[in-house]
Amino acid sequence: MFRSPSLASRIAKASSAPLLKQPANGFFARRYISNTQKTSTGAAVHAHHTSPKQNTDSYLDTLNTSELLGYGIIGMCTLSKPILNLAIRVFPYTPLWVIKALVYKNYCGGDTLPEMMKTGERLSQRGIRNMMVSYTLEACDGKKMSVSIEKIIEETRRSIRELLVPHTVKMIQQTGAENINSIPPGYVALKPTALIENAADILLHYQEPAYKARYEQLLNTCSDIVKVAEDANASLHKQYPGRKSPFIVVIVDAERNDLQQAVYKLQRDLFARFNNLEPTVVGTMQMYLKESTPNLIKESELAKKGGYLLGWKLVRGAYIHTEPNRAVIHDTKADTDANYDAGITRTLAEMCSTKPTVGHLVVASHNSDTQRMATDLLDKVSNEKVRANVVLGQLLGMGDNVTYYLTTHRNVKNIIKYVPWGPPLETKDYLLRRLEENGDAVRADSGWPLLKGVAKTLFKRVF
Ligand SMILES: Cc1cc2nc3c(=O)[nH]c(=O)nc-3n(C[C@H](O)[C@H](O)[C@H](O)COP(=O)(O)OP(=O)(O)OC[C@H]3O[C@@H](n4cnc5c(N)ncnc54)[C@H](O)[C@@H]3O)c2cc1C
Repeated sequence: MFRSPSLASRIAKASSAPLLKQPANGFFARRYISNTQKTSTGAAVHAHHTSPKQNTDSYLDTLNTSELLGYGIIGMCTLSKPILNLAIRVFPYTPLWVIKALVYKNYCGGDTLPEMMKTGERLSQRGIRNMMVSYTLEACDGKKMSVSIEKIIEETRRSIRELLVPHTVKMIQQTGAENINSIPPGYVALKPTALIENAADILLHYQEPAYKARYEQLLNTCSDIVKVAEDANASLHKQYPGRKSPFIVVIVDAERNDLQQAVYKLQRDLFARFNNLEPTVVGTMQMYLKESTPNLIKESELAKKGGYLLGWKLVRGAYIHTEPNRAVIHDTKADTDANYDAGITRTLAEMCSTKPTVGHLVVASHNSDTQRMATDLLDKVSNEKVRANVVLGQLLGMGDNVTYYLTTHRNVKNIIKYVPWGPPLETKDYLLRRLEENGDAVRADSGWPLLKGVAKTLFKRVF
């Protein structure tokens, strides 16, 4: 329950702990990078972001030397627009081993499950005790993939059994079973377009009779993956009966808008199949969409009727630049911000109600104000089950200063990083496409502060 009925009104009295400004280390950032600089009106953005001071040092102190060197390279590449453009041109000719040696570790978890285990361990030393893993999802658009769909499905299932389960158990053992609810679940992300041939076609036409069987095939593929998570949860709950959230959660990623109606249907069908006892399946809602709030309300009504629980990952949304119908997105950045923050407040209130329709919430954002607000809200919740089912998330290599603030200054335990992994070749393509797509979002002043912070931190280590 919320400790106070006037909770929302008190959000404004946020903690005064210092929040370090985010370095623009999004050079190789993924599909999910914040695109604020590219799109929003400056006034709206600055109204919502209140980072007081450019200071990357403290968070850089927590990184190992190889990660620091990676950020140093990124700082150099983002010194100016011409340098960045040159880096984009040179990137395809850069040998894979150079990329792996320089920046790979900052943004990708590894190409094998044992490497991902090490990434999980590395993150846990920074207070991030679980991951949201996604197998080469970015490289897969359902058409031009260099790994087969069968391989993606199998690796996704394996990542539950051989990565998320042992990592979660290891974290529980390290933390002590008495603190079992302070370990976030391990998440496996499903990108619907990566899980079936001609996925976009199926998602666009899923309501037509000719596509019914193919949609069912996609639903069954996802269900097979969820079943692996469900079985793991059943056996872990027996071992650790005090746990109040799932140990493993399957999360459905949101795609570009024209595919989303089918993705909503897919995640709803999965909720109905699997979320009767606990929220094993979590869907995504893109709060930059005007339809998002009515959708959240509609899904709650359907869940009430269907007798299942919803789980939400709330994101602002990553496809603003490729969305042909701009009208579906909120008119201003400020509107998106207000809708996102209201979505978090409402969802949390719903989770605290006597008969909640929502059982799990992931606040997936690099926005410091949003994460501070979510943490303030959560601090006022005393219901342990609700607290165990609200998790904050950022991408690996992104928003590290926000993650650092939350773990260090706000003592946040339920926090995860989204960690892509997969074959090196796929990863190279993936990094390049992110670079091309997001290069012009890098702030003109991003290179120097980051570079200086890295140099200063390295200097302190050597002398
Ligand atoms: C763990 C994790 C999982 C994610 N999963 C998904 C996913 O499944 N699907 C997905 O789409 N994204 C996903 N994202 C990406 C998420 O949408 C981006 O992180 C987000 O768009 C960047 O916003 P922000 O909250 O970090 O903060 P900010 O930098 O404050 O917001 C930037 C965002 O605001 C919105 N915006 C910017 N300008 C305008 C404008 N003029 N008008 C209206 N809106 C505007 C856009 O959404 C833009 O990306 C995920 C992110 C994380 C951390």
